[in-house]
Amino acid sequence: MKIGLIRCLQTEDICQATTDFKVMKNKKGAFEGIEEEIEIVGVVSCGGCPGKKAVSRAAEMVKRGADAIAMASCISRGTPIGFPCPNAEMIIDTIKKKAGDSVRLFEFTH
Ligand code: SF4
Repeated sequence: MKIGLIRCLQTEDICQATTDFKVMKNKKGAFEGIEEEIEIVGVVSCGGCPGKKAVSRAAEMVKRGADAIAMASCISRGTPIGFPCPNAEMIIDTIKKKAGDSVRLFEFTH
């Protein structure tokens, strides 16, 4: 599985996606039960509020080989400060619509 990771721009200063990489490597969290090898093919931020750039950034990662897109937990769960993205649902739904069924979408990482 080739994953493109999208994270929240607002939390970059306090989180370097360390846990996202760890759970992918160790197949924990949202990746529990995945048997195939996980390769991270790209890491981008949402581009900043309101997050519209996440859609084109996801599409670009798919173009470059990603067959799955993972939304870092800073977006959907608000880690590490307990402040989820107010636009998470819209961002996720739009990426799903644009990417289609051939791209697996993880709505959180851990
Ligand atoms: S749109 Fe959401 S994910 Fe992106 S910077 Fe703003 S709060 Fe973070």
